[in-house]
Amino acid sequence: MVIDKEEFKVDYIEKLQNMFAEDAVDASRLHQYVALGALIKDYCSKSWIETNKQYGKSKTKQVYYFSMEFLVGRLLNSNLVNLGIKDVCEEAFADLGISWIDIEDIELDAGLGNGGLGRLAACFLDSMASTKVPGHGCGIRYKYGLFKQKIEDGYQVEVPDNWLKNGNVWEIRKENKAVEVRFYGEVYLKEENGETKVIHENYQSVRAVPYDTPIKGYKNNTVNTLRLWSAETMEEDFDFSSFSQGNYAKAGEEKYSVEAISQVLYPDDSYEKGRLLRLKQEYFFVSAGMQSIMKSYKKMNISLSEFHKHVAVQINDTHPAVAVAELMRLLMDEQGLTWDEAFTITTGTMAYTNHTIMAEALEKWPVEMFKKLLPRIYMIIEEINRRFCNEVYHKYNGDWNKVNKMSIIHDEYIRMAYLAIVGSHSVNGVAKLHTELLKHQELADFYEFFPEKFNNKTNGITHRRWLLNSNEELADLITETIGDKWIKSPNELNKLMDYAEDAAFQEKTQDIKTNNKITFSNYILSNYGTEIDPSSIFDVHVKRMHAYKRQLLNVFNIMHLYNQLRENPNLDIVPRTFIFGAKASPSYTLAKETIKLINTLAKKINNDPIARDKIKIVFLENYGVSIAEKIIPCADVSQQISTASKEASGTGNMKFMMNGAITIATLDGANVEIFDAVGKENIVLFGLTSQEVIEYYKNRNYRASDIYNSDMRLNCIVNQLVNGFLETDKMEFMTIYDSLIPHNDEFFVLKDFDSYVRAQSEIDSLFRQKSIWQKMSITNIAKSGIFSSDNTINQYAKEIWDTPTFRIKL
Ligand SMILES: *Cc1c(COP(=O)(O)O)cnc(C)c1O
Repeated sequence: MVIDKEEFKVDYIEKLQNMFAEDAVDASRLHQYVALGALIKDYCSKSWIETNKQYGKSKTKQVYYFSMEFLVGRLLNSNLVNLGIKDVCEEAFADLGISWIDIEDIELDAGLGNGGLGRLAACFLDSMASTKVPGHGCGIRYKYGLFKQKIEDGYQVEVPDNWLKNGNVWEIRKENKAVEVRFYGEVYLKEENGETKVIHENYQSVRAVPYDTPIKGYKNNTVNTLRLWSAETMEEDFDFSSFSQGNYAKAGEEKYSVEAISQVLYPDDSYEKGRLLRLKQEYFFVSAGMQSIMKSYKKMNISLSEFHKHVAVQINDTHPAVAVAELMRLLMDEQGLTWDEAFTITTGTMAYTNHTIMAEALEKWPVEMFKKLLPRIYMIIEEINRRFCNEVYHKYNGDWNKVNKMSIIHDEYIRMAYLAIVGSHSVNGVAKLHTELLKHQELADFYEFFPEKFNNKTNGITHRRWLLNSNEELADLITETIGDKWIKSPNELNKLMDYAEDAAFQEKTQDIKTNNKITFSNYILSNYGTEIDPSSIFDVHVKRMHAYKRQLLNVFNIMHLYNQLRENPNLDIVPRTFIFGAKASPSYTLAKETIKLINTLAKKINNDPIARDKIKIVFLENYGVSIAEKIIPCADVSQQISTASKEASGTGNMKFMMNGAITIATLDGANVEIFDAVGKENIVLFGLTSQEVIEYYKNRNYRASDIYNSDMRLNCIVNQLVNGFLETDKMEFMTIYDSLIPHNDEFFVLKDFDSYVRAQSEIDSLFRQKSIWQKMSITNIAKSGIFSSDNTINQYAKEIWDTPTFRIKL
């Protein structure tokens, strides 16, 4: 939008007066921030109304991205940038005497996600709006986001993340768009005038109220919607008789149990299994979302048989997979379609993204629980399954074994991934390797049955948040060098290849990295009291804490370096700062022990004169989007070292390369595609391949204890965990020890150790060769454009959704 500084000042002063009856300078920081947010929302509102109107009027196809998680982070900066008024705003603030510094820090992160899956959903929202794809988000407005992590005495302590405590300027409660979601009760069929009606009785009603957040595209007129649902009691259900008889507690009971549905985000999907509340959450937002889509569809007055030509629903992992049955229910029970008509529309509408092949993370629900909570939905799933099993039976000439393997309902459990596959027209993995593993290993039976459904969509990240906004100096240098087209067309970054060996450009990128590192060092000093050296290698490992992501392998290399230093204090290594950040699921003991281990080592090594000026360890508390935005622009080394075959894609890897870090990587997830893009000179690879890992599992011929007994470096390190060397209780790290020796090291930490140590010393020697290192770094930036989620969204739009771009005219 076009607005000059003077107009902006007038608007802003008026906003502060109207909202808080305060002058600009006297207002509290919170009020200054809230008024700014509200003003930005005003600026979006005209385009937002127009977007909705023009989508409806044109009947263009719209996408709904259903996701249990949206890890959006802060919105102030990205909204200002997407509106194109960031500079105006900063200048106006300077004129008004309001400090711009820290104003962004007033905003609390919307941490409505665990990690990669939720962040992907947020990046997709930005890219859909910025590339003019009519696409909205649908999810839950959790009152508490993922817990806040505190480190006390080296341990993770979880504190509630009350992100709404100061309100949320970006959202608008849409009371009039509330819908009813039904749980429990009895269902039976009734004949009426020759028609079969479905009767659902004695159910519990929950009111779903939507809160809408505008998703502003980058310098265009598109404003899509993120709609998050909140659970409330139906007003008529409030127990007034108890209340008026003075029994306030009883009157509140129902209210609490209903509101619990949108109270908290479960920390880590793979460790919270079989919880009734989780299933309620899933059906709650799916039913509310599908009902609201159906309502807007009906308003357009198009025949229901065309539904899938105007609506696409993408289900982000299996958590929203009940959408398949919910759409069937709406089409049959409420709109009167036949099974066959409804099933054609449903599969034409739904598309499913798979995010994991780890067996323990594949979602399944006990039939008993499911049937009781969602009786009608269960009936529909049973019928989908009956028909599907019948087809399998016929295709494979009565092979019951095949039917059993592929049945959606099996062993008293409902397998949600199978429901999603059968009920969708598209099944995609999130990186080339991952999709191949799905097709040929985990879902091979389904690939054989429905080959046309399977496709790959490698994940991406929005380069606007992860480069333009979080690394302004680098973004400015890029624009100075190749122009600003890369912001709308990220593949333009490739033009930087012309400068990879340009000494002046190398020096500039290096200076920017150094500046970023200095800023970060000051932040670490003031927040943690730890002094770190900005000229050391910043070696960064930030992501969820999980055994398969192998933070432990990183730790073992540090222990090895430390042990070497203790033998030889003059060991010639480039000084390194190892930076970690990770939350562990509260019930995941091994992960929590690893956090304690990192902090224990940090304390020991950071205070040991032998290691001074050589190794430092920093553990960043409460890793989330805003901390990621701070640390990624400072990284020299990006740790992407998961056990090959375990990481579906990874997106952290893309953010780091885009900011010029060199990746130390296994050939896993999208690391494979990063390797393809930059070539072997510009990435440091190590470790087992996915095929080797799979072979070991299959043949059961890996013996961790053999390595432990033969490699004296590892023997020493593993013993140090339990022999008092770390000056903790000897039992402190017993779960880690047990995972390696008695439990045979499921993730091949010991197996990959030697190769990892070599890779790390290669990093050391490359870093000493400044010009080679800078060339690698620039190559990574130049090749990162293909990983922009603009490209990913473009592929979804063309190959899955069939949604043309749609220009909003003002
Ligand atoms: C990108 C991102 C992730 C995903 O990181 P991976 O390394 O791909 O696991 C997790 N958390 C946050 C806050 C992120 O920004």
